[in-house]
Amino acid sequence: MLIETRNLTKQFGGLTAVKDVDFEIEKGKINAIIGPNGAGKSTFFNLVSGSYIPTSGQVIYRGKDITKLPPNKIAELGVARTFQTTNLFEQATVLDNVIVGHRLRTKYNLLDAVLRTKRYKKEEKKCKDKAMEVLDFVGLTNITDQLAGNITQEEKKRVAFALALATDPEVVFLDEPAAGINSGETEGLAELMKKMVKRGITVCLIEHKMQMIMKLADKIMVLNYGEKIAEGSSEEIMNNQDVIEAYLGG
Ligand code: ADP
Ligand code: MG
Repeated sequence: MLIETRNLTKQFGGLTAVKDVDFEIEKGKINAIIGPNGAGKSTFFNLVSGSYIPTSGQVIYRGKDITKLPPNKIAELGVARTFQTTNLFEQATVLDNVIVGHRLRTKYNLLDAVLRTKRYKKEEKKCKDKAMEVLDFVGLTNITDQLAGNITQEEKKRVAFALALATDPEVVFLDEPAAGINSGETEGLAELMKKMVKRGITVCLIEHKMQMIMKLADKIMVLNYGEKIAEGSSEEIMNNQDVIEAYLGG
């Protein structure tokens, strides 16, 4: 197990968005979180990646308690994420988006940057090489020079994956990667996730669409009104009465 949550809980005023969730994210696998809208899936991601501090409970990563670490520290430890909506700089190229996104997460010395020292130029080259490498990995080498505002929704999803991969993460959290794209494109993203796992990256994704998950995920957790109502393989989930009711009722 790579990440474990223990009794993870988040309240917003009187609303309990995530309630006492115990979940183990398995290393080298495709882990998934499903559930109806408002079930607490994104909140769960925000808790694990440090965007929200839990009301109670813990997040353990490689045996270390990371519950109260800020997002940048958690990212440095090898946890990357995408957001439900991908915000790119529309007036910049795809390549520059990835370079900037990567650079924002690399420590660099401002004086080096102003003086454009050798060290800075070396860093610049490293950022660019890394950006090219991850864009190649996600299959976007042919559009690196296009403005991000002109690319398709599916390409934007791939850029978001590239941004997450640029930090060489150990685990990536993907929030609804298939939202807003068609089934053929979804198939392509699923292939890309399998490729990530082959590269040794652990994947944890949120998905609203059941079909994609059932074929793809090794392990699934179902949330409903903030609570874990089921956990297991696709087969176990599909035959679970509570899950069927949550989906049909929701
Ligand atoms: P999901 O991703 O499963 O659709 P969310 O985690 O986004 O669900 O939301 C779970 C619940 O928590 C919803 O009722 C939502 O309105 C509420 N919620 C999420 N974020 C906040 C916030 N920052 N402030 C107040 N309520 C929130
Ligand atoms: Mg969500």
